[in-house]
Amino acid sequence: MNKRAGMLCLLLVVLLAVVAAQAQPAHVTAIKAGRLIDPETGTAATNQVILIEGEKITAVGPNLAIPAGATVIDLSKLTVLPGLVDAHTHMAITYKEKPESNYYYLTYIMDSTPLRAIQAASNGIQLLNSGFTVVRDVGNNALYADAALRQAIEQGWLPGPTVIPSGPMIGSTGGQFWPTPEMYKYHNIMFPEYIDANSPDEIVRAVRENMLFGARTIKLCIDCKPWGYSVEDIKLAISEAAKGGCKVEGHVQTTDGAQRAIDAGIHMIAHGNALTPEQHQQMAAKGIFLNGTDTPFMPYRGSEQAFKRTVANLRDAWEKKVPLTFSTDLDYWNERMKNEKTGEWLTRGDMTIAFLETWKAAGIPPADILHSMTINGYKAADIIKERGPIKPGFYADLIAVAGNPLTNIDALHNVQFVMKNGMVFKKDGVMTPEKFFHPGPVRMPNGRWTR
Ligand SMILES: [Zn+2]
Repeated sequence: MNKRAGMLCLLLVVLLAVVAAQAQPAHVTAIKAGRLIDPETGTAATNQVILIEGEKITAVGPNLAIPAGATVIDLSKLTVLPGLVDAHTHMAITYKEKPESNYYYLTYIMDSTPLRAIQAASNGIQLLNSGFTVVRDVGNNALYADAALRQAIEQGWLPGPTVIPSGPMIGSTGGQFWPTPEMYKYHNIMFPEYIDANSPDEIVRAVRENMLFGARTIKLCIDCKPWGYSVEDIKLAISEAAKGGCKVEGHVQTTDGAQRAIDAGIHMIAHGNALTPEQHQQMAAKGIFLNGTDTPFMPYRGSEQAFKRTVANLRDAWEKKVPLTFSTDLDYWNERMKNEKTGEWLTRGDMTIAFLETWKAAGIPPADILHSMTINGYKAADIIKERGPIKPGFYADLIAVAGNPLTNIDALHNVQFVMKNGMVFKKDGVMTPEKFFHPGPVRMPNGRWTR
């Protein structure tokens, strides 16, 4: 072999080594599931194997061969199901009895954006620990703490759910506040908690700004003020949001406001209290999701009277076949939030799953509750094409519980296992989040930080 041929051989060996390194298959994990729930059909299959390569599911079935070298996770004594969705919450605000008397105008003055972002990170971990792999976070996030959390989780800095952030809520003058002229005109007190948008131009600008700064959904205050938004205003926001791939949720607190949102063909309506049975029918016909935020009556929250109304509204919406999501609006804390038996603090995940009480009181069957907590949640969050169902090609987000939630929905209180993006976050009831922490970004979507 002459010198040149030798060099060529060496080059070939190096090239082959590079190609081999690039083609090396991702690590395979095999999960043995004693019972696997498909919430789309409300059915369960026994003794299933789920194969996962890297972040995604590659195969699901009863008798799959487990490749040599695969990591085997034995959940044969548990029920495996897709991760849960809270379709309406606020991880970066917690108003309290002390010091602000539950007056969140004060919370957002006293707690800085960085502090609120750190709290959101903690709340995200607490929610993931309770099985919530997707969270729609819709406003009251100071200066884009929600979008920052989404980016931090996507970049692999810390564990957390897939966050669908809205950025600040967009509303007509005043947002949800009634500020003094001094605070409004001279201190711009509305911002960043709300973006004032009072004309078509301002609506377009506000929607674009939120999408520019990392929003994945748009939140409108439809009727927080008597002047509110018209059908045309809402339609404009919907069409502008669509350009950035975002769906619109409308906060609604009056029957008139709800009707304008329905007439505009909004994607989601938040809060169920102002909706009439006729409007439930219209929402069902149009496929408009209801993020009812159905607060239970607990020692730390609510009243019996309000609870009865919420239960009746949820029941009627379910009977009328409105696409319901599981949603909480959980953005408060007080010193009564303790486990009555153990005296330990409840986590935000514990308090979120406690919203099942409302669904149970409404007499909604477990299979339908599960459907709302998963399939409808993925659809409302507009991620169902890539995340949620336990099927080949989807991200490996799944949880496991003792017992069978199709017969006893309270099984969801006892999440033993959580996997997100193919990484184990919780096993045998204990958080094991080491794999989620990276010192640098593991990915930058589209090479840009915010989108
Ligand atoms: Zn809310």
